[in-house]
Amino acid sequence: MPDIMDHEKELDKKIKKWSEKWEKDHALICPHCNKTIYPPDIEFMERLITYHGEDGPIYKECPYCEKEFWVNEKVNRTWDEFKTAKEAYK
Ligand SMILES: [Zn+2]
Repeated sequence: MPDIMDHEKELDKKIKKWSEKWEKDHALICPHCNKTIYPPDIEFMERLITYHGEDGPIYKECPYCEKEFWVNEKVNRTWDEFKTAKEAYK
């Protein structure tokens, strides 16, 4: 049986990697000053993430230059399929 601590460490690594990717994928670029606005600024991201992306356009204000801009969310899902749970959890 695998060591539960090893498993937890492995899981922590995966979560960290996933959240870094999530932040990178969900960054906004201000159309006025071109600065990158990263989550997790929860307040800023509020209402921006919808289930199907049908709630846009959403009004935002850049935290850097304070100009207003509008955001349309694009939702793009992909799936990876595996024959076994072992492969899927890799
Ligand atoms: Zn800006």
